[in-house]
Amino acid sequence: MSKSIAIFSCKKIRDVNCIACIKCFKAFSDRAGEFERYLDEDDVEIVAMSHCGDCPGLLIPRTVLLLENLRAQGREVDTIHFGTCLVKATETAACPINLEKMKNILETKFNKKVVIGTHNY
Ligand code: SF4
Ligand code: SF4
Repeated sequence: MSKSIAIFSCKKIRDVNCIACIKCFKAFSDRAGEFERYLDEDDVEIVAMSHCGDCPGLLIPRTVLLLENLRAQGREVDTIHFGTCLVKATETAACPINLEKMKNILETKFNKKVVIGTHNY
């Protein structure tokens, strides 16, 4: 069965010291890091990459927008990944997003699987 993925990044890191999301695209292609879970699945694609909306983080309304826009294109998303940039922002840059709490909110509210992290480098 095909699977579709969306990735949320940290707006302050994306395209600043992590350029063009090449790390996440590479890790996905290699099925490395948190993408290892798709190792046995051929029919998986990244359908969207977006950011948190800047501090203090607007992941809930941006998920609403994301899902609306995908549906308007006849698409869906099964799994949302929080990029490694977002994880690092919470660990080292005083990011106000509580990732575990946000994961639970998005999973409950939108019935999507949420994975914390993407690549390991
Ligand atoms: S960690 Fe991934 S999602 Fe975040 S900016 Fe880098 S490549 Fe993009
Ligand atoms: S620090 Fe957190 S809230 Fe601020 S831009 Fe980065 S991920 Fe978004």
